[in-house]
Amino acid sequence: MKKEKREKVCRNCRLFVDGDECPICGESNFSNSWKGTALINDPNGSEIAKFLDIKAKGKYALWVK
Ligand SMILES: [Zn+2]
Repeated sequence: MKKEKREKVCRNCRLFVDGDECPICGESNFSNSWKGTALINDPNGSEIAKFLDIKAKGKYALWVK
């Protein structure tokens, strides 16, 4: 099994970010302490997106420290 690198999450948006800054808010306030993931394809039609206040599609963490 390949060992996965722990992904980082934007503390403002909960979005998983590959680069050095978050594509949504433009900040680099990241956390490696997160739990759960949610794939949002349709932010307007998703209850989870509404609950988490997500406006753009992407992969998000449900909880970020
Ligand atoms: Zn962000």
